[in-house]
Amino acid sequence: MNLFDLTGKTALITGGNGGIGYGIAVGLAEAGAQIIISARNKNKTKNAVASLKSSGHQALGIEADVSDESSIKNMVSESLNSAGQVDILVNNAGIGIRKLPHEYDLDDWNQVININLTGSFLAAKELHPHMKANGGGKIINIGSMTSIFGLDWAVAYASSKGGVVQLTKTLSVAWAKDNIQANTILPGWIHTELTQGIKDNFSDRYEHILSRIPDGRWGEPSDLAGAAVFLSSEASDYVTGVSIPVDGGYTSF
Ligand code: NDP
Repeated sequence: MNLFDLTGKTALITGGNGGIGYGIAVGLAEAGAQIIISARNKNKTKNAVASLKSSGHQALGIEADVSDESSIKNMVSESLNSAGQVDILVNNAGIGIRKLPHEYDLDDWNQVININLTGSFLAAKELHPHMKANGGGKIINIGSMTSIFGLDWAVAYASSKGGVVQLTKTLSVAWAKDNIQANTILPGWIHTELTQGIKDNFSDRYEHILSRIPDGRWGEPSDLAGAAVFLSSEASDYVTGVSIPVDGGYTSF
């Protein structure tokens, strides 16, 4: 018996057209899942789907903006129409706006909270009846190390990611009876477009972070695949409501 086999499962990954979402998409596809990538940038999504298909995986793309409830509803109905079912939801789409708290205006705040936190809630809520009717499902929300500690230049981001952990715990409690497990992955410092600016423009900060990572390197999107496969598979059927850091030891230091 392969506890990690995802053959016959379908995974919907928001923000799956690049970065961590794509790293997770590749991992779930290699474990046998059909992949649905949803994001705003159509071309990027098309390329990500083509790349998965060229490796022999089943994949399709859907244009969606998780800051817009009607777009989320459409993303879910299109996924169900195309794939028949969604067994795994990865709420990965996320943004950050780097400013000190006193420099933030309400629009900045709302934008980050709407995408990172409210979008995750709405996508899970929209899929819940289908997962329940299907006998269960897996929800993986992407938090952050700032789910644990604060960061001066990331007030809305850290607030949203703290909220993601509490959202996940609440879903895990509410939907346990429906055989839906909800868990959070807390990525460490990972090389993606989101963090490229730190490397390019704040090399002192980049090096300081590096010096604090016990594993001695920044992470890559593929580093998230193992935890995502575990939390998507039968191997984690009695694991719900937890947060798993995948950070090279950063939050243990
Ligand atoms: P990227 O910027 O590389 O990717 C973000 C993804 O989210 C893109 O696919 C983007 O696609 C999508 N996205 C952004 N806004 C929306 C939206 N409104 N609707 C739908 N999709 C959207 O970032 P990462 O891969 O680094 O980040 C992925 C997740 O991991 C985020 O939740 C982030 O907070 C989290 N994370 C990242 C860390 C890191 O060090 N990189 C550390 C901790 C957590 P498109 O623009 O086409 O919509």
